[in-house]
Amino acid sequence: MIRGIIMKERVLILGAGYGGSVIANVLAREFRNRIANDELEINLLDKNDINTNQGGYTFIPFELYTPEEITKPRKKLISPRVKTFFGEDGEVTSLDLPDQEVTVRSGKKYGYDYLVIAMGCRADIDAVPGLVDDLNTFYTSMDDAFKVRDLVKTIRNGKVVVAVASMPIPCPGAPMKFTFMLESYLRNIKKCEENVEKNCREDVELSMVWPIELIGPAEYNNLVTDECKRKDIKIIRNFQLARVDASKKELTSVNGEKLNYDILITVPPHKAPQVLIDGGLADENGWLSADKATLQYRGPVGNFDNVYVVGDLGPAEILKTGIGAHYQAIAVSHDIINSIYGNGIKTPYMGETGCPLVTELESAGTEGKGYIATWKYGVPLAPFTTTKMGWYFYRMYYHIHWDISVKGLF
Ligand SMILES: Cc1cc2nc3c(=O)[nH]c(=O)nc-3n(C[C@H](O)[C@H](O)[C@H](O)COP(=O)(O)OP(=O)(O)OC[C@H]3O[C@@H](n4cnc5c(N)ncnc54)[C@H](O)[C@@H]3O)c2cc1C
Repeated sequence: MIRGIIMKERVLILGAGYGGSVIANVLAREFRNRIANDELEINLLDKNDINTNQGGYTFIPFELYTPEEITKPRKKLISPRVKTFFGEDGEVTSLDLPDQEVTVRSGKKYGYDYLVIAMGCRADIDAVPGLVDDLNTFYTSMDDAFKVRDLVKTIRNGKVVVAVASMPIPCPGAPMKFTFMLESYLRNIKKCEENVEKNCREDVELSMVWPIELIGPAEYNNLVTDECKRKDIKIIRNFQLARVDASKKELTSVNGEKLNYDILITVPPHKAPQVLIDGGLADENGWLSADKATLQYRGPVGNFDNVYVVGDLGPAEILKTGIGAHYQAIAVSHDIINSIYGNGIKTPYMGETGCPLVTELESAGTEGKGYIATWKYGVPLAPFTTTKMGWYFYRMYYHIHWDISVKGLF
């Protein structure tokens, strides 16, 4: 307060995806009176006005969700107490952390006292030479997920390879989940055209190419390794994708190994938004550095306690998942709240994250099986198995996501 005048506090949130929306909604609830009294404002920016629950892309090839179920207009998800700017007035084109100013495509500038950078990450399809010549992926957009659906319908026989190019990627559990759903679909649902009594699975050689050794934490890796053996899915580990030769239908790893395929479904390499890389904010790995607990920015342009890094664009060593983005958003919201109240309370992110798994689709002859595996710093994932209840809960989650999770109600 200066000579009786109350200074207005300004919170600026970049990205109205999962993490950014949760923070905007939690702060708007907490500070409803201050906002009404014009003592505080929350500005939320995004380059577009539609929120997509990207997790739903994994299910589109099997027609388990519709586009309407996994997308919502951002306006419907965000408290009216938040000032939202979407499109030209919301697309971030530069950040000046020392001067506490963000510029957007229209040229407008926003100042702040607290800044949250929650702009996600994106696929970098040009990072692997030749990949664009045979790119089938459910990781990039709704349209691409539908193309994979159309491709899956054509599978009758041959070598089908699901390849993860490199790490890190958002939701590293999704490719395995997709592979199990594909296997279940070919075994239980898709009938062979020549003989409708027969399913397609026995004529398909299904492989999963994985860039590192372990698939998730030890217990996750154990479970998926056993399931793959049981389901005759070959796992090719430590195969980091260096090149795709579409004319020979051949993959080459960084170590020079070769692998042939008939149908290729790929998860491309990912990176932080280009504007952050171009602005010199990213570390040597191309991601935004932050303290693992406070999530405060600790990067090449300096250390800023009033700048928080949330979600997929964060440090490579923090797993990139929606579950993680949610818990990071809750921790950061409360840290901002406590800082504005000046009560000295700290609410660190404790590494809560997870990877939902599906090992079987629900079909005429099978029960769906799933599990939402979670863990945090110092509390490793416990042994688990996929269950019918896990399948139902995970399917249901996509509906409660919008009204419970994105609104920051837990
Ligand atoms: C295929 C797939 C399956 C997945 N499955 C799961 C799952 O089952 N469980 C799970 O927990 N997680 C899953 N995830 C991961 C989950 O979707 C992400 O971890 C989560 O969305 C990250 O939230 P975020 O807020 O960091 O980024 P996002 O939700 O991606 O939001 C980032 C926002 O920033 C905006 N933005 C980007 N650039 C700019 C700019 N220049 N200016 C303004 N705005 C900008 C974007 O438009 C976007 O709205 C999956 C992801 C994929 C791709």
